[in-house]
Amino acid sequence: MSQAAAKTYDPNNIFARILRGEIPCGKVYENEHVLAFRDINPQAPVHVLVIPKGAYVDMDDFSARASADEIAALMRATGEIARAEGIAQSGYRVLSNCGANGGQEVPHLHLHLVGGRTLGRMLQAQ
Ligand code: AMP
Repeated sequence: MSQAAAKTYDPNNIFARILRGEIPCGKVYENEHVLAFRDINPQAPVHVLVIPKGAYVDMDDFSARASADEIAALMRATGEIARAEGIAQSGYRVLSNCGANGGQEVPHLHLHLVGGRTLGRMLQAQ
């Protein structure tokens, strides 16, 4: 079905270090498969990063290799956090930057959960 994503995971990326407890984070949620914490440079009143605990580089890698349980857990957690943060009714945005064209900076899959204000257009004009 899919090409296996052949991406090398850097175990010293900043989110891997957060997962190992080597550096602190503003944790908002944790379960067996997922950790979520506040973005250090928030772009809106609510800006939470939702990450799988497994070593996945990006959405391409995760969608190719993660188990159904891991994928479901990430989605379930994101919705649950949005409700807990009080933005489910007003609305929010979930996005994940993937690779060079996506502008990804940290090479561990993360979903940005952003809300608490009107977010405007999805993409900036070029
Ligand atoms: P991206 O460009 O999609 O890879 O997003 C990386 C995000 O990680 C940015 O929004 C950063 O502000 C955020 N970030 C980087 N380091 C930390 C950290 N130690 N704790 C929380 N968020 C971080």
